[in-house]
Amino acid sequence: MQKKLSLIIVGTIFISFMLLMVISALSIRNLGIKNAEEKAQIIANLVQDGLSAHMLSGTMAQREFFLKKISTAKGVDALWVVRSNSVINQFGKGFSNEVARDSIDEEALNSATVHKQIIEDSGTVKLRVTTPYIATEHGTPNCMQCHQTKEGEVLGSISIVFDITEARTNGILNALMILGFSIVIMLLVFMIINRSMRPLMEIFHSITFVMNKAQEGEYVRRVRCSSQEKEYQNVKFGINSLLDKLEGTLTDIEMTVKKFLALSPNHQPDLLLETQSIVHELSDIYQFKRTIEFDEDKEQVYHRIGSILQHDIGLKDFVLIESGKNDIHPNIVFDASSQKRSINLNCRALRTKQTVTSDQFRDICGLCNTSASHLCIPYLISSDLELLLSIWERTPEELTHTKTLLPKIQNYIDAARPELVSKNLTEILKVSSTTDALTELYNRKYLDEYIEKALSQAKRNGIIYGILMIDIDWFKMVNDTYGHDIGDRAIKALSQALKANIRESDTAFRFGGEEFLVLLYECEDAMVMQIAEKIRLAFEKMPIQSNTSATFYKTLSVGASIFPKDSDSLLKCIKFADIALYNAKDSGRNCCKRFDPSMIETKELRNDF
Ligand code: GH3
Ligand code: MG
Ligand code: MG
Repeated sequence: MQKKLSLIIVGTIFISFMLLMVISALSIRNLGIKNAEEKAQIIANLVQDGLSAHMLSGTMAQREFFLKKISTAKGVDALWVVRSNSVINQFGKGFSNEVARDSIDEEALNSATVHKQIIEDSGTVKLRVTTPYIATEHGTPNCMQCHQTKEGEVLGSISIVFDITEARTNGILNALMILGFSIVIMLLVFMIINRSMRPLMEIFHSITFVMNKAQEGEYVRRVRCSSQEKEYQNVKFGINSLLDKLEGTLTDIEMTVKKFLALSPNHQPDLLLETQSIVHELSDIYQFKRTIEFDEDKEQVYHRIGSILQHDIGLKDFVLIESGKNDIHPNIVFDASSQKRSINLNCRALRTKQTVTSDQFRDICGLCNTSASHLCIPYLISSDLELLLSIWERTPEELTHTKTLLPKIQNYIDAARPELVSKNLTEILKVSSTTDALTELYNRKYLDEYIEKALSQAKRNGIIYGILMIDIDWFKMVNDTYGHDIGDRAIKALSQALKANIRESDTAFRFGGEEFLVLLYECEDAMVMQIAEKIRLAFEKMPIQSNTSATFYKTLSVGASIFPKDSDSLLKCIKFADIALYNAKDSGRNCCKRFDPSMIETKELRNDF
């Protein structure tokens, strides 16, 4: 840059001086020519006057001496006169040297105009001026006094050759002087530019370097300038303060964000880009947090987390598993796995509460041994709830890449944690208010809520429910004989018999007192009676501890109905099961009865149903 500028300035000066040199050389030469021309005119006039005087005084024969004398004038190299034909005709040929010597002489005589010629060789420059003498009767003396000629006719010519070599030499010398002068000026300019541009170029290079580094994400570089001049110091201070502010602010943002956001280990080297991506991530997480606040339950939140993991974070093959206390058995809450996964209670990550990865040991967890590359991360949501993320990848390289996504996943889980805790708590409270404290079975209140859900699900999926209404026979006697507490013990014993003899998909409710309702999920006719019988027999054999060391046994009666076989209303089916129960009681107790419309006493009543 500096060189370029110097070259331009010095070049311009050089060209200007060269032009000046040429112009001045030419001017000096032209001045020499002009001087010679003027001199030629004076000499021509002098010779004309001299020759006229010779003619008038009758000494024309001595004219040669006069002409020789004139030709010795300074700068005159040669001088000769030529007679025109009219003079030759009147006065004769004259001296032998008074004839036209060349075509220029002839031209001047014929055309009556002045002719000039420059004769130049390496050593000398000469100017020849040939001036015609034209006859006039108006001059003094009057030409016509002696010449028999007409006005305007050419009488002769004079040629004078001047040596103007000196003019050329002067021109060249002058040009050389200008050249020398210009070189000195150029050197001076070059030095001045160099001196004055150095700090400018230094600060310019420093700014370029610092800006390039900032472009690459390095904001620690600062502009340097050795010059103490105020302007440079101001520029340096301005840019460096801006960089200080930028670097300080960005670092501050990063440090602040780090406190509540896990940053990816391979985060951007450029602080500005890093800040931009942090802001984007924060905004996404904020959006996510706002959305899950309005989600209905944990399941919706799990689904949202799963969807983010799948679509935004880019996990392909994974499951989200919920596990915890209060009857939260490990269950898949979001399934994006390529193969059907089953959950094992002995899952290593759930058991150890530590991340399990196949790059520790290839078959570290025999239970997940479906792929060479897998990763299970347990996230503790609260003391009684945890989430497990199980990821499978095709190659160890892909697994390594997935690990870089973990901080981002952690941020989403952290954002979801308060919402999951509160939703879990709400569910626990809801369950406790819908659970019977004595038997830990659902109570009647829950039945009302459950029935609606179960009915719409059953209708949608064509599910069959077997319904059992169970009541302990002669229960009052227990209370009367052993007291209320032992009665409670008998009720609890029946709840245990129920739990032991129904599947997980079935639901048992304490309907009231010593009366229980069981909804058997997807249960056909024949199975319903089998299960009822199984429960009856199990309870019959259950020893109940009395307040002494003695035990006693009780029996129960069961009424059964089938939804939607008996009615497309689940409530009616429950009622039918109750009718069947009464039928069992009437039939002597300790038996199971399948509902039959004939059990309804009158036809009218039957129509009511
Ligand atoms: P049945 O064979 O006809 O069913 O005769 P039962 O004696 O069992 O008659 P019923 O079903 O009418 O009696 C229910 C009794 O259960 C009445 C009530 O005192 C008692 N009971 C209700 N709830 C509880 C309870 O929570 N604990 C105890 N110990 N007794 C209860
Ligand atoms: Mg009873
Ligand atoms: Mg009863």
